[in-house]
Amino acid sequence: MSTFLNFTGTLLKNLVSKPVTKNYPEEPAVYPERMRGRIVIDIDQCISCGLCVRSCPPRCITVDKNEGTWTINRFDCIACGYCASKCPKKCLKLIPGYQKPGRSKAAVTYHKSEEVMEAERKKAAEMAAKKAAALKAAKEKAAAAGAGTAAAKPMPAAGAAPAAKPVAAADAAPAAKTPAAEKSAE
Ligand code: SF4
Ligand code: SF4
Repeated sequence: MSTFLNFTGTLLKNLVSKPVTKNYPEEPAVYPERMRGRIVIDIDQCISCGLCVRSCPPRCITVDKNEGTWTINRFDCIACGYCASKCPKKCLKLIPGYQKPGRSKAAVTYHKSEEVMEAERKKAAEMAAKKAAALKAAKEKAAAAGAGTAAAKPMPAAGAAPAAKPVAAADAAPAAKTPAAEKSAE
């Protein structure tokens, strides 16, 4: 009897109270603040270093420096956050919210803006020019040092007689006799 009364009480309460479930997706979901949802990138800050690629356990990121692209297969991402923690530019982060479902495991590619690509090309050209100039200066310095050494130490002519070795003179004065030797000679 008491079980029946309990059940009736719960039934009546639920009939007059609001449902505990949400009318998703009409009502947007409210995610916890620190939820590890999905990775987002500020692509123009990316320097294409590839650290995120190497730190990603399921290998779902690819980076193309020449094309200025960063690609992720979100369906393989396990939201571990390693890529975000390794990124030196802090341009990756995990934000609350889930990846929308899809019919195929398609990857998403982000492209750097044309202004950033142009600035990177300019910087690369400047670096290459500086490197070439430094290389040229080093070569010239080495050549000058080589010429200076050759002038200071002329090489002996081919076929030249070797330098005479010092020979002991045959008529060199005999060594001085000691007093004992002089006495025995007398
Ligand atoms: S969160 Fe983890 S799995 Fe997802 S892209 Fe980053 S490193 Fe890879
Ligand atoms: S670690 Fe950061 S800067 Fe490096 S390639 Fe990945 S997103 Fe770009």
